[in-house]
Amino acid sequence: MVKYTIAVLPGDGIGSEIVPPAVNILKKIGIKYDIAFEFKEALIGGAALDAVGVPLPEDTLKVCHQSDAVLLGAIGGPKWDTLPTHLRPEVGALLPLRKDLALYANIRPVILYPELVSASTLKEEVVSGTDLVVIRELTGGLYFGEKKREKTATGERAVDTLVYTTEEIERIARLAFETARGRRKKLTSVDKANVLESGRLWRETLSRLAAAYPDVELEHMYVDNCAMQLVRAPKQFDVIVTENTFGDILTDQASMISGSIGMLPSASIGGQVGLYEPSHGSAPDIAGQDKANPLATILSAAMMLEYSFKQVQAAEDIKQAVASVLNKGYRTGDLVQEGKMVVGTQEMGNLVAGEI
Ligand code: ATP
Ligand code: MG
Repeated sequence: MVKYTIAVLPGDGIGSEIVPPAVNILKKIGIKYDIAFEFKEALIGGAALDAVGVPLPEDTLKVCHQSDAVLLGAIGGPKWDTLPTHLRPEVGALLPLRKDLALYANIRPVILYPELVSASTLKEEVVSGTDLVVIRELTGGLYFGEKKREKTATGERAVDTLVYTTEEIERIARLAFETARGRRKKLTSVDKANVLESGRLWRETLSRLAAAYPDVELEHMYVDNCAMQLVRAPKQFDVIVTENTFGDILTDQASMISGSIGMLPSASIGGQVGLYEPSHGSAPDIAGQDKANPLATILSAAMMLEYSFKQVQAAEDIKQAVASVLNKGYRTGDLVQEGKMVVGTQEMGNLVAGEI
């Protein structure tokens, strides 16, 4: 029997509601496929700040390093937004955790389940059949460049720095070319090379590497155009690769193709231990109300099975279970469709578990 240890970090807001259903489903998968999962829960984010005074406790880092994969809920919320930048859960926990685990690539598939076509805010003929993946660089850019704030005679001055090195761009580009190679062989590299120096380096690096992947069609696109194309004609995309901030924004936007941000999973890979979390945040506006859609987290658990444990069939099982529940007409509140049954977070989790 194979054995895997999974660090479970529910975090803040809806995190403690969406993570347990995903853990429950992994347990069922474990039984079905004879995999022994051990789950180790640890504190992170605002929950950790409140409990032990720091957003990323040493113990949590240790648990993550000693695990085979990390399942994360969400981090942050208004309660901690007024703290100094370095203590804020997103900056003080999520960024150092990604850096510490050397996770340089965030993979966010945008798939529209046929059952959800009418839940999308876009027209059916525009979205139906969309199947794209955004690969977001995760350890560089504005998130990690020098940040400072200083007083001026009349107010303040705030600085963020956007830095990328050739090595960082090559690393993510290779992964993107490889991913495209395993799919429909089209790679769209998104930058702002007309304005940003880092964007020029990005574009030059991608173009240079393209020679090693003659079977992949590479196109370059400015980020503003990409934002427009994503809602105008999303089916044109196969794999999109972009820097940290652009990737964050474009995937939130792309989530509306799939009907809701509550449908978008993500995998962060690159180091020894992969991290799996929904693409959305802690949704403080609906936290504690049993309203959140747990499917993005459940689908992130499926990505864990696929990427970290190479259990492709088990991952497929989870995706099928989700499709089956949607097919039977069950929806969480973020996916309102005429004639469908609205269920809460827990019930949605139980329904999917029941299909395994
Ligand atoms: P972050 O900076 O962490 O990405 P954010 O500010 O982008 O966070 P989210 O927490 O992602 O914000 O929430 C954006 C909106 O989407 C909110 O209205 C929230 O209620 C909704 N939302 C997010 N996740 C879900 C979910 N799983 N189910 C239903 N609605 C959600
Ligand atoms: Mg967001």
